[in-house]
Amino acid sequence: MNCKLCLKESELRNSHIIPNAFIRRIKQNGLATHVSSDLDEPVRESIESFHEKMFCGDCEQFLSREYESYAIRFLKGQEKGVKFIRYKDKVRASGANLRKIYLFVLSVFWRSALSSQSIFSHKVFFPEYLMDEFRYCILNGKANHNSPYVLKISRLVCNHDFGDITGEELVKDLVMLPFHRISDEEASFHWVALGFIFSFSVSGSKLKPIGSSVLRSHGSKVSAHFVELRDVREIMEVLDTIHQR
Ligand SMILES: [Zn+2]
Repeated sequence: MNCKLCLKESELRNSHIIPNAFIRRIKQNGLATHVSSDLDEPVRESIESFHEKMFCGDCEQFLSREYESYAIRFLKGQEKGVKFIRYKDKVRASGANLRKIYLFVLSVFWRSALSSQSIFSHKVFFPEYLMDEFRYCILNGKANHNSPYVLKISRLVCNHDFGDITGEELVKDLVMLPFHRISDEEASFHWVALGFIFSFSVSGSKLKPIGSSVLRSHGSKVSAHFVELRDVREIMEVLDTIHQR
């Protein structure tokens, strides 16, 4: 089998489509079993299906070392040298390696689209030329500054309690499987991770991504504007489902 990242013939590992640290939280909060979107029936699949043979050992290690470990520390506010300042309508990070975060987020969308499992591949899909470009960017650690697509980052906020848990606590740990919004053959893709929402859309699309802050692929400063949790329909649907169980 050939590795989907370096394309070399190799024995493939059981790769996580979404990094394990995130999956653990999805399993904990029960969001794994129920992700819905406007077009599909709610998808119920076993939590065993979050990995599949995709990458060789070297590429697995590369993804984890180069992107995942940094992104997780950044999202948790634990990366040394990154400062978060909270304003009335946004949180601003400085001292961050945006290239790593950008490519990490791209890799999550790319892996989801690569997956043979419908729980991912029915949610995230790209034309082949973009899949090739993403693979090249991720493998070489280089983002395409002239890309026809845009990634956005938003910070989820919630001022209401959910049962015993405060909105703030809920939001901080919230991780979901990627989902999409579709209209007139356009799609935007979204991923909720540790209180942030990442949105992918093609620039010029009529479909507005969630949030207004652009995640650039270079530099060290980024603002994530606040998005109220209750304004994101897909999250509310999942929370309602869990609540009803
Ligand atoms: Zn490889």
